[in-house]
Amino acid sequence: MIGLVAATENGRRRARRLSRLWPGARLYEGGPREAVRRAWGECEGLVLFMASGAAVRLVAPLLGDKRRDPGVVCVDDAGRYAVSLCGGHGGGANALARRVAGALGAEPVITTASDALGLPALDSFGEHLGFRVEEGSDLAAVGAALVGGRTVRLVSDVRWPLGPLPENVVCSEEMEPPLIFISDRLSEVPRPAAVYRPPSLVAGVGCSRGAGAGEILELLRAALRDGGLSEASLCSMASVEAKRGEEGLLGAAEELGVPVRFFPAGELVRQPAPNPSRAVERAVGTPSVAEAAVLACGAALLVEKRRSKNATVAVGRLPVRGRLYIVGLGPGEEALVPPLAREALSRAGLVVGLKSYVERIRHLLRPGTRILTPPLGEEAERARIALEEARAGGSAALVSGGDAGIYGMASPALELAGEEVEVEVVPGITAAQAAAALLGAPLGHDHCAISLSDLLTPWEVIERRLRAAAEGDFVVSLYNPRSRGRTWQLEKARRILLERRSPGTPVGVVRNAFRPGQEVVLTDLGSLRPEEADMNTILIVGSSRTRLQAGRMVTPRGYAG
Ligand code: SAH
Repeated sequence: MIGLVAATENGRRRARRLSRLWPGARLYEGGPREAVRRAWGECEGLVLFMASGAAVRLVAPLLGDKRRDPGVVCVDDAGRYAVSLCGGHGGGANALARRVAGALGAEPVITTASDALGLPALDSFGEHLGFRVEEGSDLAAVGAALVGGRTVRLVSDVRWPLGPLPENVVCSEEMEPPLIFISDRLSEVPRPAAVYRPPSLVAGVGCSRGAGAGEILELLRAALRDGGLSEASLCSMASVEAKRGEEGLLGAAEELGVPVRFFPAGELVRQPAPNPSRAVERAVGTPSVAEAAVLACGAALLVEKRRSKNATVAVGRLPVRGRLYIVGLGPGEEALVPPLAREALSRAGLVVGLKSYVERIRHLLRPGTRILTPPLGEEAERARIALEEARAGGSAALVSGGDAGIYGMASPALELAGEEVEVEVVPGITAAQAAAALLGAPLGHDHCAISLSDLLTPWEVIERRLRAAAEGDFVVSLYNPRSRGRTWQLEKARRILLERRSPGTPVGVVRNAFRPGQEVVLTDLGSLRPEEADMNTILIVGSSRTRLQAGRMVTPRGYAG
């Protein structure tokens, strides 16, 4: 939860605005000192609407450990700045400051050195991949080397989709400090080193009824130790469905802070477990639980089955999945690129998209990001390039204008992607929404989108949809209305809609919404001139209910009255 505390009337107004915008935010009323104290114990992040001096004084007596304290952001009375005051990395205050700034139209102020230089922050390095910092890591020393431009070696057993790294971080096999070491293996690491434990290990567990959590934990910890593996890399336990209610197993998982996956016996039977047992088969219907559960998770077995009186465990390693971010950049204006999209772009080692889109967001990319811009019309090729990077364990972002899922890159990419890559789709503001906002409220009731491009869709299909939309009295957004090579489609569409809709039906014609050269024209179906539209135009054709109200296009919410 995000706690909001205000000291002035202006502050309260902004705090109320945020609490309406964010379901996870809560406004703490009352005197600021008391409000901050209450919020401190209940929230992961605090936004204080007051002068930084006041904020520092209120927070100072509460500060404890920067790994556990909430992140604190302070917003000035005029709402110009969102200052990440403390807990920038661990407490998430830097990210929170950016979010607050985005929501209030303020400037984020970030003072941590690594962020200011666009370098990865060591205390949250790989956090989005689930990495944990090993206690006792030399974060300050390695961080100083990083900021100072000295060579820092990065040693990792496998390639992780880390995103772009600064030039002075060199991937290497030599354990030569200063070092960033990513591994689930317990090993001697020369100092100074920042050691990260990736979420790579799964433990398969079988147990008889009533087996205690202590026994399971002891067996599992011994297995990890003997296998030379770090407990901090354990990310999941797995067992057979029949053990779903087993308290000892659930207790052990809780102690380790990991979830348990349960597989049906029928699925475990199919796994080629190396040490099957007849007795187990008679009891639960599969000859292996611990080993088979590890294999069923898709992991490779590292530590074969070991047993204690009432339990068995086996440990395996999951393959690393690369990342594919599919990102919608909105209509054009930078303020309409959502914070999540910025975050995804900053995490991508490779960005693929049309040149014009990539140019728009180039400054949001971290130093070291590779960029590829294959030409227009090669959607499948762009998707393939990005996927190839993700499949190789890297992180790639595919960018589209508007929303990537609406006539964008999301479908061609997901048609090709399998489970071997992790996919995150970041929504954007599609052209219809952007145009609607400029026109008024034309999408206030049922509406649909139709692309007039017959390059990938036969014209008969488009025509049928136009008739159905007209028949259904939908408001219709027409994407791709006209290009140099496609000149007759919009006029044809206009005539089809006119079969069912009056010539007076309002039509909004929006060119270059939220980008340079923006034009907004209100006309009607009878007088619409198709030659005024081009590739950068979207049209919104009203329903029978759509009206002009004070020069704005409005479709009423209801049909009554
Ligand atoms: N994924 C995009 C749509 C791509 S199809 C989105 O969600 O917006 C391309 C068509 O979208 C263009 O021919 C035009 O009809 C429309 N379009 C995209 N951006 C636009 C903008 N800023 N202004 C007006 N129309 C736009």
